[in-house]
Amino acid sequence: MKISRRSFLWISGAAITGSLALKLGCAPKQPTTEPGGPVDVEDLRIQYAETTTAICPICGVGCGILVYTENGKIVATEGDPDHPINEGALCSKGSALFNMYYTYNEKGEAVPNPQRMTKVLYRAPKSKDWEVKDWDWALTTIAERVKKTRDEYFQEKNKDGVTVNRCTALAWLGSAMCNNEENYLFQKFCRSLGITNVDHCARL
Ligand code: SF4
Repeated sequence: MKISRRSFLWISGAAITGSLALKLGCAPKQPTTEPGGPVDVEDLRIQYAETTTAICPICGVGCGILVYTENGKIVATEGDPDHPINEGALCSKGSALFNMYYTYNEKGEAVPNPQRMTKVLYRAPKSKDWEVKDWDWALTTIAERVKKTRDEYFQEKNKDGVTVNRCTALAWLGSAMCNNEENYLFQKFCRSLGITNVDHCARL
């Protein structure tokens, strides 16, 4: 069949409109189980998965993410359309979040990323080696060291006798994983210890 330039444009336009309508849910839904019928691969991938809401950990924008899991394993991630910050959209880094959990082997199959940290690692002062520790040890040690440093360096007044109530020997770094309310609480906690060196990748 000979296709003119005009009919080629018409057919292409109809095909694009049809697939857009299908994606936006305007087209009649076809049963995915019908033998030989059309199958939406994205539907299949997440149809038995549990959905959990999360916050993108990469930058301070704090976009909402939907994490799909099956048997404790992540099967997909996407932007959360109900989240007020991003309304479902993600930048290129957020769109690649799935690859924080998985990487691809030489056959192109997704396998858990061996570089992902799953344990507490501790490097003692002046040591070049990392040791694996448990969370109880880590949290207790952090609390003990914070208290010791504060007791040792807390300053009520500066050299001119002005009340300062500060401890400049401690610093606090916030996290893009935390929301506004959590960061507000961190700030209050820091101030209660007298910490003046407070920062965060998004300067919250
Ligand atoms: S999706 Fe992009 S813009 Fe949004 S928080 Fe993640 S890195 Fe930041």
